[in-house]
Amino acid sequence: MPINLDDPKKFRPLVGQAHQVAMNMLRPISRKYDRAEHEYPQELDMLAAMIDGLAESGASEGAGAAGVRREDADADSSVKNGANLASVMSIAEMCWGDVGLLLSMPRQGLGNSAIASVADEEQQERFAGVWAGMAITEPGVGSDSANIRTTATLDGDHYVLNGEKIYVTSGDRADHIVVWATLDRSLGRAAIKSFVVPKGTPGMRVDRLEHKLGIRASDTATIIFEDCRVPAENLLGSPEVDTKQGFAGAMATFDNTRPLVAAMAVGCARAALDLTRDLLAQAGVSVDYDRPAQTQSAAAARLLQMEADWEAAHLLMLQAAWMADNRRPNSLEASMAKAKAGRVGSDITLGCVELTGSLGYSEAELLEKWARDSKILDIFEGTQQIQQLIVARRVLGLSSAELK
Ligand SMILES: Cc1cc2nc3c(=O)[nH]c(=O)nc-3n(C[C@H](O)[C@H](O)[C@H](O)COP(=O)(O)OP(=O)(O)OC[C@H]3O[C@@H](n4cnc5c(N)ncnc54)[C@H](O)[C@@H]3O)c2cc1C
Repeated sequence: MPINLDDPKKFRPLVGQAHQVAMNMLRPISRKYDRAEHEYPQELDMLAAMIDGLAESGASEGAGAAGVRREDADADSSVKNGANLASVMSIAEMCWGDVGLLLSMPRQGLGNSAIASVADEEQQERFAGVWAGMAITEPGVGSDSANIRTTATLDGDHYVLNGEKIYVTSGDRADHIVVWATLDRSLGRAAIKSFVVPKGTPGMRVDRLEHKLGIRASDTATIIFEDCRVPAENLLGSPEVDTKQGFAGAMATFDNTRPLVAAMAVGCARAALDLTRDLLAQAGVSVDYDRPAQTQSAAAARLLQMEADWEAAHLLMLQAAWMADNRRPNSLEASMAKAKAGRVGSDITLGCVELTGSLGYSEAELLEKWARDSKILDIFEGTQQIQQLIVARRVLGLSSAELK
């Protein structure tokens, strides 16, 4: 099959709109909410309403994180550029504006992606329009998410949740939280299920908010569950514990969310490259794309090398999303995209600070902020090391027990 590396024409209006929003609505308030950590960015309400309007009118396929679902792909066998591709492209564009603000966008949480990925039809309808955070991490349980200790015990027609979740993005502001809990720890990872818990459910409380290096516009919460009763029908997917299927159900979410995080890194890194190119030009450093890097100035050569890294991350991001749109298994590609984009995102943003010297390090520009913001994209939704482990397992055909 021939590969066309151009952005699909049909998404150009969406990407153009996202760019305008990033430039005119996110950039102007970027520094304000970096400084005012934990203050809710009111300006986003209007923006979220606009995105809802676009989604409802069908004018915008995948305007945000919620637009991910494999079954949406047409049943026919033709190649499709769908909601996953649209989502990564628009998210990258929005993160050219501001990653922290994108993560704070109402109704576009990672929990929304989880619902879009694994909820059944009835649940899709019931949870349409909610704003959902995603709570997996616990004290002592990070990368090893199969060791989750939060329990869900069936009691009549409710599950009773008990446990502590930390580092929940939008954990304070979202109106729902998708909580991972185990039905029976002795049955291992197959017994881990996700539950949609509406805010205000008795027994659920936000304990504290974190102070962070970057993405300060985004709230990160610790949430405690004490005998928190949720209706049994809020368990996403099947309540059966299928030890043969193992962790596959829960992990399906990551195949959809990792390309989105790659997109965030791609967008933030491009912001840094664009500004650095301009600042270098103002300083008299021009980049010649028709000459080998080693024949140009050291600064131009470095910029060219960073742009090449960016391009590789960008293409891997598009590939992972395109495969999801075309219902092809993409765990390997989703992890490759996340690993590459997470790493080069940090390298590029910090490299841009280095290239622009004191200007890059000062708060006069946003370069220092982007270097801080991008680091998280190489940590959450699976760290760099975990993505590499997944890639190695897939390439070598080894199970998680065989390659730890
Ligand atoms: C700002 C922020 C927002 C977050 N948002 C969310 C959220 O919304 N929901 C949520 O559930 N979680 C969230 N997290 C948590 C995040 O997903 C975890 O921090 C991440 O999974 C890593 O877990 P950990 O911090 O416990 O590190 P650990 O798992 O303890 O890892 C520490 C180091 O060891 C490495 N390591 C671990 N295991 C291996 C291995 N097998 N091989 C090689 N190296 C290994 C890791 O790569 C890392 O470098 C957030 C975190 C932050 C900081």
